[in-house]
Amino acid sequence: MIFNSVYSVAIESWKRRNFYGSCHIKAALIDMDGTLYDSMPLHSQAWERLAQEEGLHTTPGEFFMHEGRTGAATIDLLMKRERGRSATKSEQQELYRRKTEYFRELPSPKPMPGARTMLDHLRLAGVSRVLVTGSGQNSLIDRLDTDFPEAFAKDMRITSRDVTHGKPDPEPFIKGMALACTEPWQTMVIENAPLGVEAGHASGAFTVAVNTGPIPAAELEKAGADIVFPSMAALAEAMPSLLLALR
Ligand code: MG
Repeated sequence: MIFNSVYSVAIESWKRRNFYGSCHIKAALIDMDGTLYDSMPLHSQAWERLAQEEGLHTTPGEFFMHEGRTGAATIDLLMKRERGRSATKSEQQELYRRKTEYFRELPSPKPMPGARTMLDHLRLAGVSRVLVTGSGQNSLIDRLDTDFPEAFAKDMRITSRDVTHGKPDPEPFIKGMALACTEPWQTMVIENAPLGVEAGHASGAFTVAVNTGPIPAAELEKAGADIVFPSMAALAEAMPSLLLALR
């Protein structure tokens, strides 16, 4: 197989930046919303409804930029900006409860085209998979086994309930590496959102961005993506040669 030179350049610059002598990818830490599921437009709709009911002003498309933050952190950010104070614990809980309810009322999000193939390539190459999501939305987390059979073992999942600091903090990915028993030079992060990419970059893992939404690719590069793919289908197709280049 011919190595794509774009991959080699991306991998070499990642290794140089982090002072890695070598790399051997053994685990992939994979985001859920906007990466495995085409769920971001629905999350955005649920957030918009909540904000409108609460009289909190929002800018068009802003929830795509908040993606990756925990619900509590998003609510706190809106409160600070629009009301000049932090959200109380009970506001965070109550407003997030309503947001998840509004999300559930919307049509069920579909798996992202290409996601299943991408996961199959990882499994066949013997790369462990860890789900790393800022979500606490059980309606979606509970569907993973049906939509992506064999992709994620029950004990290989980090959700909003497992972290103190959500993305863009690297904590979720650092905890994901602990589950997979890998070091950053043995780990790949797969993300679609700028804040998630920022967290992946800070964790030291090779950070792959898939652009599945309305955000310009430049935002993902700016956030620290080592490589950006224009869609999940494109990443799925590239995965075998990307993994070869990373070993
Ligand atoms: Mg995402």
